[in-house]
Amino acid sequence: MKRISAQDFYTLLPYYENSVSVNMHLVVYEQEVLLMPASMQVIIQKSFSLSYQGSDFIMYTHLPENIQNTVRKYALIIGKQLQYSGYRGVCGIDFITTQDEVFFSEINGRFQSSTVLINKAMHHCGLDMSLQRLHIDAFLNPKCTIELPAFEVGYSLYGYSYDPETFEKAKYLYQCIQDAPEVVCCNDDDLDWEMKLEKNTYLFKIISNTNIISVSAEFATLLHPDININEHIFDPKHYHEQLQELKIMLLSHGIKIEKRALEKLTESGGVNCQEFEAIDLLIEKNIYINVPYETRFSELSPFRIELENNGEFILMYFGKKLTTAQIRTASKLDSHVSPNGFLYKDFLYLGNDRLRIYHRNGCYFKTLNKGCKFCDVEVNEMPLPIEDIKEAIDAYAKCENIQHFMIGGGSEPINSDFQKILDIAGYLKAKFNKPINVMSLPPLDPNILDAFKDVGITEVTFNLEVYDRMLAQKYMPGKGFIPLEVYDKAFQKAVDLWGRTGNVRTVFIVGLESEKTLLEGVKHVCALGVSPILSLLKGISGTPMEYFFPPSDQQILKICHKVQKICDFYGIEQGPVCRCCEDNTLKISC
Ligand code: SF4
Repeated sequence: MKRISAQDFYTLLPYYENSVSVNMHLVVYEQEVLLMPASMQVIIQKSFSLSYQGSDFIMYTHLPENIQNTVRKYALIIGKQLQYSGYRGVCGIDFITTQDEVFFSEINGRFQSSTVLINKAMHHCGLDMSLQRLHIDAFLNPKCTIELPAFEVGYSLYGYSYDPETFEKAKYLYQCIQDAPEVVCCNDDDLDWEMKLEKNTYLFKIISNTNIISVSAEFATLLHPDININEHIFDPKHYHEQLQELKIMLLSHGIKIEKRALEKLTESGGVNCQEFEAIDLLIEKNIYINVPYETRFSELSPFRIELENNGEFILMYFGKKLTTAQIRTASKLDSHVSPNGFLYKDFLYLGNDRLRIYHRNGCYFKTLNKGCKFCDVEVNEMPLPIEDIKEAIDAYAKCENIQHFMIGGGSEPINSDFQKILDIAGYLKAKFNKPINVMSLPPLDPNILDAFKDVGITEVTFNLEVYDRMLAQKYMPGKGFIPLEVYDKAFQKAVDLWGRTGNVRTVFIVGLESEKTLLEGVKHVCALGVSPILSLLKGISGTPMEYFFPPSDQQILKICHKVQKICDFYGIEQGPVCRCCEDNTLKISC
């Protein structure tokens, strides 16, 4: 179809791929310009256009301060110019902002779709006020006659419209909304779902008390995966050929558990979601996935667990059966108390076939108030005696199916002598003689790794998390200052001791840095013989990064393919080597 006509006039604007759209309401009086709280706009790409779908006032407050200051400065200049031209009342100014620049985009001389959120916030603060009343006031008075204290708008909004391709998904989402605690209201204007609709007809709008968008490492807008129904990386009809796509979606969308299924799980010990706010799901006999559960918007996830009458759990996708599933329940030992008063589950975590042992309580960096911003390990300085650890290890080893061990958890100071780790490893080796992985900071003196090997440690994991060292320092104000050279020396020594076969590993968090630097990091470690492990960014509630989302499903898939290519080139297997421990990584062994 021809979209451009030689007879018409057009305005050409540059397109900034890595940018976000911002909107601010102004109220223009004869002698005053009021600036209202600004929002980020949700703009989605359609076949031949960019379409406004919603606004987010919460995420705007997390944009860099220099951007927010410039937006206010420019908005005031524009408002004064409008005032001078005789404009009165409410208007909205749109900006496009990159990481360090703000560009004026347009003025809309009207109320905005997001006006309702500002009114709602004023009402929430106890102000008997609305933008409509301010609008009238601006025509009647030279200055604002209404006392207006500063207020925040803690809401976001997203609107759905009719598209034959996404209609069933929109309908499914609409049915789930009442269960989602983050959705404070849904406006459907008495929508009749049976009615024949034209494309782009408005369906319904949700208002949330949390952010629905986030900003990617590349500085582009990311819509929450459970709000977004426009992405298609998975086709349930080709389910068996798309297990990687399925895993990516489960990891990024999370899951909900239907009431009857939850009751059955509770009878068998309760859902095991101690680690990372996620449950352990097993599908297709040997695919383990650690799926986020009861996390932000997971009630809107397309994935749901239902209970069949024969007692089997079923994994559903947009209300349709996908496959049978097993869900791991909590171990009875988790609530046992050690001699010094620690709950076993506070320092041991039973995985699918592995027992993880925390060698210390809390993390050294957290005690310095320099903990990683995505990490939920709590500040805790109570020493954890080795006798307690040994007792609990024995208890789990007696009752559970454990094939290997991991010693790891909070970090020790960078100059640690690793003695506690060596003591635990020595105990495990002598008693069980099974593989032992240590996940820790890289030692300053790599020669200590000889002692690791002598004591029976068979694998080591030194997590870089972020390859871009500037961002590493930003997101990990303690650990991120460890120079890359310290990691490299430890990696080289470890590869000399344990080989290039996957026993030396490092985790990268997908979503914390740009795709470009992430892939550079993967190349860097593969060249050293180290296996990269891809872990997806999770905005864990209560952490400073709870407002962040992982990249889009499409981008995650693209990254997985590129990382695999790099690994193939260097002849390195992606980590982890154990299939059961792939559960919270993006690797899938089919
Ligand atoms: S070093 Fe590890 S345990 Fe400590 S804050 Fe960072 S991620 Fe958490």
